[in-house]
Amino acid sequence: MIVMKFGGTSVEDGKAIERVAEIVGSRGDEKPVVVVSALARVTDSLVTISQLAASGALAEALRLYRQVRQRHFAVLSSLVNGRGETEVRSRLQALFDSLEEVLRGVAALGELSPRTSDNVLSFGELLSSQIVTTAFRARGIDAVLVDSRQLMVTDASYTRAVPQREETNRRLRQSLKPLLTSGRVPVMGGFIAATAEGIPTTLGRGGSDFSAALIGAGLGARKIEIWTDVEGMMTTDPRLCPDARRIDVIGFDEASELAHFGAKVLHPATLFPAVEKNIPVYILNSRNPESKGTCIRARARPSKTILRSIAAKRGVKVVNVRLPRIVAPRPRIVDPQGFLHALFEAFDRHACAADLVSTSDVSVSVAVEASRDLAELVQDLKRLGNVEVEDNKAILCLVGEKLRGRIGVAARVFGVLAGAGINVHMISQGASEINISFVIEERDIPEAVKQLHADFFAERAGDPQRVAKRTTRGGAVPRQSNGSLANATRAGL
Ligand code: ASP
Ligand code: MG
Repeated sequence: MIVMKFGGTSVEDGKAIERVAEIVGSRGDEKPVVVVSALARVTDSLVTISQLAASGALAEALRLYRQVRQRHFAVLSSLVNGRGETEVRSRLQALFDSLEEVLRGVAALGELSPRTSDNVLSFGELLSSQIVTTAFRARGIDAVLVDSRQLMVTDASYTRAVPQREETNRRLRQSLKPLLTSGRVPVMGGFIAATAEGIPTTLGRGGSDFSAALIGAGLGARKIEIWTDVEGMMTTDPRLCPDARRIDVIGFDEASELAHFGAKVLHPATLFPAVEKNIPVYILNSRNPESKGTCIRARARPSKTILRSIAAKRGVKVVNVRLPRIVAPRPRIVDPQGFLHALFEAFDRHACAADLVSTSDVSVSVAVEASRDLAELVQDLKRLGNVEVEDNKAILCLVGEKLRGRIGVAARVFGVLAGAGINVHMISQGASEINISFVIEERDIPEAVKQLHADFFAERAGDPQRVAKRTTRGGAVPRQSNGSLANATRAGL
């Protein structure tokens, strides 16, 4: 069997759901379990609606609620036009009635507990799975709606509940195996679950990938497909570099490093249950089902190129903290060890996550998201030393399994950047040794990405001549000591 998960954009309207039906319809012999997200943006709307209700703005909350309701009914009508519509309409209506009741309760109490929030958010996937099942059946797919709240068992940590794997697996096998054996197609809402007592929970925002991985792992799927609206992972952001290519296969560790800084295709951590069981996970594009997408595996064969991908994260600030050289009057913390400890404690206190850190005994640079208001943190840090915040920075993150233990890559990277006149502010090589990250000026990102991509991805391993010939038209180019073809070309060789 396989798991096919369709994200919000893949089920955003009638047309999108029709494409999904076509994709699933052609795969019946692979015994798919289908997992769906809420219609695009619905979970966000439910968050807003419940917060409005809690803050006393019930009328506004209900106005938005009606829009959401209208959208779902419109999508349903576009898919079934008449056939068996009344029955499904009344099922949707029942869901909307209970949602309205919960919202009125929230407004009456003037409070939104995490437990109630999960209850409200669960409606997104309850509705979408109902609609998708109906659309499948109207197109001849023998689909069965399966209530995820009855199979996916979690603890009671609402908004980010932790799955109870054994009990979940037992229920998954018990309920889904017979359906699959008889050739039926189970459809489940992702993201939602329930406690053993049956109280609805969610697995955290974006959690339907996690659902897919849990279901795939629990049933021993041959593969898991995550259908979205992009071609998969790329060698870099195609908006920055038109030469960016789709990555065929990537290792789980590499994908995890990239996800931190790169485009948010998906969060690989949520795929862990699958990867742990060695089940390959494919990222595919529901708008272009022919494309092969990207396969994430526990162990991917090494890339031909030294790097697997280059990710850029803009909107970064760097906080520099320096221990004062002459300590008078003596600050509370002076020893380097205590300094680091106090420093990270301050970041922790202000819930400010560090993206990149580089340290010496007496100074520390921490790159953080620029959207954060740092005023209070800075005030706090001033107890430790001199603080300076630099704006308009960006992080470049180079990832590749082949970086491990490889000599000379850093020299090559910084050679390329030096050649382009790009200044590097901070450098860090992750403990995993499969990533090199550094901070540069935000405005240098396009040039840096272009140059590095040209240098590292033009070359196929074992065949440097091919690139040389293609790029220079005039025969092979002698490689420079830093190995940078980009530099060689720029130098007019
Ligand atoms: N609908 C949920 C969310 O938007 C879960 C998901 O889409 O994965 O967070
Ligand atoms: Mg999503």
